[in-house]
Amino acid sequence: VSSLIHGGNIMSNLLKASSLLSPIAKRLEGKVAVITGGASGIGEATARHFVRHGAKVIIADIQNTVDSSTSTESISFVHCDVSNERDVEHAVDTAIAKHGKLDIMFSNAGISGKLDPTIKSLDFQDLKRVFDVNVFGAFYCAKHAARAMIPNKKGSIVFTASSVSAICVLAPHPYTVSKHAVVGLAKNLCVELGKDGIRVNCISPYAVNTPIVRNAMGMKKEEVDELFCELANMKGVRLEVEDVAEAVVYLGSDESKYVSGVNLLIDGGYSVGK
Ligand code: NAD
Repeated sequence: VSSLIHGGNIMSNLLKASSLLSPIAKRLEGKVAVITGGASGIGEATARHFVRHGAKVIIADIQNTVDSSTSTESISFVHCDVSNERDVEHAVDTAIAKHGKLDIMFSNAGISGKLDPTIKSLDFQDLKRVFDVNVFGAFYCAKHAARAMIPNKKGSIVFTASSVSAICVLAPHPYTVSKHAVVGLAKNLCVELGKDGIRVNCISPYAVNTPIVRNAMGMKKEEVDELFCELANMKGVRLEVEDVAEAVVYLGSDESKYVSGVNLLIDGGYSVGK
């Protein structure tokens, strides 16, 4: 390909070079992934992109949107409450039993908890529930992913944190602190697991219009779309689940083979301006 680009008409040579590439480069060919929270929103979009890029995906979620008619060799579902270690263990074991290994753990399931952000009205049951899912769930995913990946000396663990891990907005304390915890866990794990060839990163999206947001705010999809367009740093450009999914494809693939310990902000520069 590079010899085609040198010399001659650059445009026609580029066209010739591009015709040598496959229409969709399968960036995750042969990889096996578990995606928690893969039944909706960011996780569901990521599952679609992973399959399109050649991965075999196990969706691990408390709600099942993959019935037997849509379940294929490439995509299947296990019931999993990430706050229950046995469920996470089972999800990882299912990947190994079905496909012989685990290459990518996308620890993405999360809940927002109550929206009231004040410390004086902090509800400790709510705090516990948010930590059970967002923090303990991430620990269980990491522990069982590492168990599966260490023997192969290779793997990628990606956590979904949030832009609230990097900027101060008045979000509910349990949610904000849980996402800071996830970033800390990823940094620690990147140091611990690097010697085993395992990379650990976070993605931190800004506001995306998914059920977690709509339910927490009690707003309709169109209302949230309008609001997020106003709030965005890049005026008129909304962050979509597909944009987040593409970042996870990158972090899961070998294209990012030297990227570890990163908290990748997907916020259109919002955090820089704050
Ligand atoms: P979503 O509501 O569309 O998806 C969340 C998924 O997690 C659902 O499928 C739900 O069933 C699942 N889930 C919830 N609790 C679970 C549990 N205990 N065990 C297993 N699965 C569980 O929302 P989303 O926006 O796609 O959220 C995905 C992640 O992205 C979350 O961690 C969230 O905190 C994070 N996030 C979202 C935004 C946003 O604006 N939407 C921004 C930053 C970060």
